[in-house]
Amino acid sequence: MSKPTVAVYKFSSCDGCQLSILNLEDELLELAGAVEIAYFLEARRRTLPGPYDIALVEGSITTPHELERIQEIRKQVKTLVALGTCATAGGIQALRNYTRLDDLSMVVYEHPEYLHALPKSVPLSEQVKVDFELWGCPVNKYQLVEVIQALLQKRRPNLPTQSVCLDCKRRGIVCMAVAHGVACLGPATRTGCGVLCPSNGRGCYGCFGPAPSADMKTVITAMLPIERYPGEVRGLFSNISNYAPAFRTAAEMLAAQSNQIAGENK
Ligand code: SF4
Ligand code: SF4
Repeated sequence: MSKPTVAVYKFSSCDGCQLSILNLEDELLELAGAVEIAYFLEARRRTLPGPYDIALVEGSITTPHELERIQEIRKQVKTLVALGTCATAGGIQALRNYTRLDDLSMVVYEHPEYLHALPKSVPLSEQVKVDFELWGCPVNKYQLVEVIQALLQKRRPNLPTQSVCLDCKRRGIVCMAVAHGVACLGPATRTGCGVLCPSNGRGCYGCFGPAPSADMKTVITAMLPIERYPGEVRGLFSNISNYAPAFRTAAEMLAAQSNQIAGENK
């Protein structure tokens, strides 16, 4: 029986999530025994013709050409997995979505007329059907293995949805917010990073995107009083996962609050 085929694609992104696949090392060898890596330009020149069983897609959709490509890929693959926060929420590229493209391109480029970009840089799910989303900047390689194993075993992947705080408590890490007065987005953020920031003495900035159960208003109420400078908490929501709807709404709420205060102080 032939092995399921896997294709790995890159769109607007930094390649970090693809490197997470290469970093799998031992697991990659095992996976290579279970699947046929048919298309992965970052790793090998040889490609096999589609259609493919599984597509792992990194990056956001930013240009008309990328839009055509992802639509074509969607037609060719059975299961499409969005790989990393660029693919699930638009990534840092989505920060441009809050400004008119023409205004930005005139400031950045000497010849903006050569630029072919969509008005917004968006997650894959805004353009095509996505079967599974793996959050993170970059993705957690063990979650990636779990998704591929689950697909091979024809079951749903077992991915955590709780917030970073729960893992902080499990690991006995001293809370940045409570003990050090540092604003931390951990209560609002999906776990999966291994509590990287709090365990290294800094607050979380939400790279794994919104935790499905998080109440953003409660997080704002807890974190605003310990801001070290005005706008710090809004800046955390407006980081790599800025275009995820729950973080976007939270940032808009904070912007409205600060505009209201500025109006009252006039
Ligand atoms: S999610 Fe992060 S690591 Fe992955 S491609 Fe985007 S910027 Fe790079
Ligand atoms: S350090 Fe951040 S993630 Fe950890 S418990 Fe405190 S608020 Fe939650």
